[in-house]
Amino acid sequence: MEPQNYKLISNQKRNRNKKTTVGYKMQVEKVFCPINGIIVSLRRKNHCIGMNNSYPSALLENAVNEFARLPGIGKKTALRLVLYLLRQEEEKVSHFAETLLRMRREITYCSVCHNISDNNICSICADAIRDRSVVCVVENVKEVMAIEKTGQFRGLYHVLGGIISPIDGIGPSDLEINSLEERVKSGEIGEVILALSATMEGDTTNFYIYRKLQSYPVKTSIIARGVSVGDEIEYADEVTLGRSILNRTPFEESYKSFSK
Ligand SMILES: [Zn+2]
Repeated sequence: MEPQNYKLISNQKRNRNKKTTVGYKMQVEKVFCPINGIIVSLRRKNHCIGMNNSYPSALLENAVNEFARLPGIGKKTALRLVLYLLRQEEEKVSHFAETLLRMRREITYCSVCHNISDNNICSICADAIRDRSVVCVVENVKEVMAIEKTGQFRGLYHVLGGIISPIDGIGPSDLEINSLEERVKSGEIGEVILALSATMEGDTTNFYIYRKLQSYPVKTSIIARGVSVGDEIEYADEVTLGRSILNRTPFEESYKSFSK
């Protein structure tokens, strides 16, 4: 073996398990001569070893892993957040953790509309000024917040907790449809506005609810499709969403034009 090659290989051995501070491991690839099998060159490549081995503390690593479980948070962002918290006063971090715990332990759902609430009855259902004869049916709490932001709706809500989706194994019994029927049965409601997403699952759920409520003396309407087909309600802009509630149509008409 040439002395020069020998030197390179011993360097490679030294570098093989050396970890750099940025989480990369030096690796050298040998290139052999196809005829006599002698090493003709050495190629150096940087091999990412991930961040797992580069944490100086297991406690830090645990915290990063917990943050990285959150939707939309990768390991890099998680590390940035954890390091930020580490720099804060202990009192501030304690307050942060307590706020999260209290939110998880104490938040409850409104027994009438199933909106998120701090009490048994949510602030919307408890508001005496709101029109109790109109109920807007939505998929989730996020849609209640989006519609409230428009300032165009003064009635009450009914949060289904999802929409019928056989692919995801969600059937009518998994949703708050029976409790909606109970509310309608009580006779206080004159109109039910269906404000679900304009997707196939939304349409299926609309039709299911319409059939379920058909035998009751209640008007069923659907929001105008200013919200395009396939759009999620929570992403519609406030003006479009506000108008689509004001320009709602009776469900029968929408269903007839849909089935033509
Ligand atoms: Zn409520």
